[in-house]
Parts: sequence; C-alpha cells; structure tokens
Amino acid sequence: MDEVTQSDLDFWFREFNSSYFDSSLSNWRVQHGYPPDIYNVGLPNGYCDRKEKTIYIGFCGEGKAKKILIHEMVHASGIDWHGKRFRNELNRVKSMGAPVRPSDLKPRPVPNGDQVREMIIECIRDGLNLKQAEEETAFIYKFRSRETLMKRFPKATQIEPDIIEMARWEEPTMEILSPEEIDRIDEEKP
Ligand SMILES: [Zn+2]
Repeated sequence: MDEVTQSDLDFWFREFNSSYFDSSLSNWRVQHGYPPDIYNVGLPNGYCDRKEKTIYIGFCGEGKAKKILIHEMVHASGIDWHGKRFRNELNRVKSMGAPVRPSDLKPRPVPNGDQVREMIIECIRDGLNLKQAEEETAFIYKFRSRETLMKRFPKATQIEPDIIEMARWEEPTMEILSPEEIDRIDEEKP
C-alpha cells in the first residue's frame, strides 16, 4: 500500500467535511506528519490541535489514514473525549458511509498499572528516553500530561534502571509492520 501524501489528505478532508460534517470544519486544515512537540515513535497516529485548528495525520497507508482522519475530524467538531458522545458521532458518520475503525466504536478501556508500565517499556524499546516514553504513554492513553499519568500510577511509572537498559537493547517491534498489517491488527482488537 502506498504512503499517503499531503494532497491525498487535503482531498479526503474536503470530501469528508462536505459529506459527513455539513462543511462545518472549513476553517480547519489537515497536515501530513506529526506536530513538532509530539514524539514520533513510528506509530501511525493522528492528533487534533484545537488552538491551531490543525489535524495531524502520521505516516501510514490509505485505509488507516482515512479512519484516523475521520476520528480526528470528530474531535475537531468539538468532542474531546472518547466517550459516548464521541462514539455516537462516529456511528452517525459511519451510517453515512464514513470509514471508521471498529475499535473506535467500543468503549476505550482505562489502562491498569501493568499496561502503563508495559507501554513505557515499549516506547523505550522504540528509542525514546524515559521522560519521552512517559510523555508518549500519557499521550497514547489520553492523559492530560505526563504528570497526570505519574500521579495516577506512581508505582507503575517507576521503572528500574536495569529494565530500561534491557529495553534499549531490544529490537523495536513496530517498524516492521506494514500498513496492511497494522490495519488488520486494529480490526482484530476486541
Ligand atoms: Zn481521539
């Protein structure tokens, strides 16, 4: 699958805006890539910057990019949290034909301490330092900040130095997945 381009995203944004959002997002724009203050760990991802009225779409194939774009456009329309309102809105646009990730339609599980710890270690494995890994984990699990995450999980965020050192020497696992594989894994998620 080909990597999407900026002009693909511009085209889909205009199409989705008029087909599913009644052209209410015309003062927004979409940007291919990651915002400067977010660490790119190789995960295809999206980000909605309300202040700049900009949606960022990470590097991935078409299928994934369209679904992430719809997800971020729902945020842009004024719904911050992945709660019931968010899922209702995704169901609405899906019924009109919009591409939606099945996992986005299910309640997002709140992570437990083990998952937080695993995610931090995984991020270190991908080349981030501890602080960046904590920031990335906070971002992935939708915490307001790294500080909020650490306050909520004081024990889980204390990773022993030898575990960190070991993770640094392990091979990152995410890079070798193709966009199709990532899409497939995403579909399979419960
Ligand atoms: Zn979201």
